[in-house]
Amino acid sequence: MRIGIPRALYYYRYGALWKTFFSALGCEVILSPQTDRAILSQGSRYAIDESCLSAKIYLGHCAWLLDKCDFIFVPRMADLGRDKEFCLRFRAMPDVVFSTFRDEGVRIVSCDISMHKGKSEAAAFAELGKKLGFKKHQTLTAYLLAKQAEQQQAAAGARKLEAALAGPELKVLICGHAYNIYDRYVGQPVLDAIRNNHAVPIPADWMDRDEAWQAAADLTDTMPWMVNRELTGTAVLLKDRVDGIVLLSSFSCGPDSMTDEILTRRLKNIPILTMTLDGQDATAGMETRIESFIDILHLRKDGTVCL
Ligand code: SF4
Repeated sequence: MRIGIPRALYYYRYGALWKTFFSALGCEVILSPQTDRAILSQGSRYAIDESCLSAKIYLGHCAWLLDKCDFIFVPRMADLGRDKEFCLRFRAMPDVVFSTFRDEGVRIVSCDISMHKGKSEAAAFAELGKKLGFKKHQTLTAYLLAKQAEQQQAAAGARKLEAALAGPELKVLICGHAYNIYDRYVGQPVLDAIRNNHAVPIPADWMDRDEAWQAAADLTDTMPWMVNRELTGTAVLLKDRVDGIVLLSSFSCGPDSMTDEILTRRLKNIPILTMTLDGQDATAGMETRIESFIDILHLRKDGTVCL
């Protein structure tokens, strides 16, 4: 059985878990390629105008997978508990993908993750294995292996974070969703620009998720979205260990607009640059903004300017 996984949205957060789960069950995992102009154009063609850039990219990856697998895996992700909600787009995504590609005969496989409804991640994966026709013990074994892979990924992130923070170079925290940071077409040019200006980009997802989620309480009591809480908490925890912060958002993202506002208003004594990804090919404007920002960070570090 070939399971297609769109290389977009929470693939960049849960990819190790998902790939290991399906592979351990003996499924062939077909991963869509890196985002490029063609994938984004396809996604934009299928998406409604109000979609955020990241959701458009997701639909482009689904379109690529249509004729290459038996099922596209599109989980319905609602929440992992109180103040651990996912953006509404993740709840609706199986319906959106199904209705968008119904005429093309799309076949999706999904599972529901919603602690408010008593559906934990473990229960969701048990349901998923059953739907695909696997026995309970096979599904459980696959899920446990998948959790190990996820833990290894988190441990690798923690090691990279400590190594980056220990170095002498200028450090820039990239505060954004992993699917924006790691997407080769929209996010990586920003990281490349930072490196080209002799600074080290530090992706926010290297931070321990629980620690970050808890630290967000310093700045907000009300933010309901789990990942945005983690981003807020990561900025709180690292602000004295980095030289600057880039807030990286998708165009028309609601949760990020609130997070960015909270961080720019309430985080003190740290230079912050907000960057909105809109899928444009031209990078000159972005590169100029990064260059100017990093110049300021260098001057601030040298004591030439005081911000
Ligand atoms: S959090 Fe923002 S970027 Fe992510 S899916 Fe929701 S609206 Fe889009």
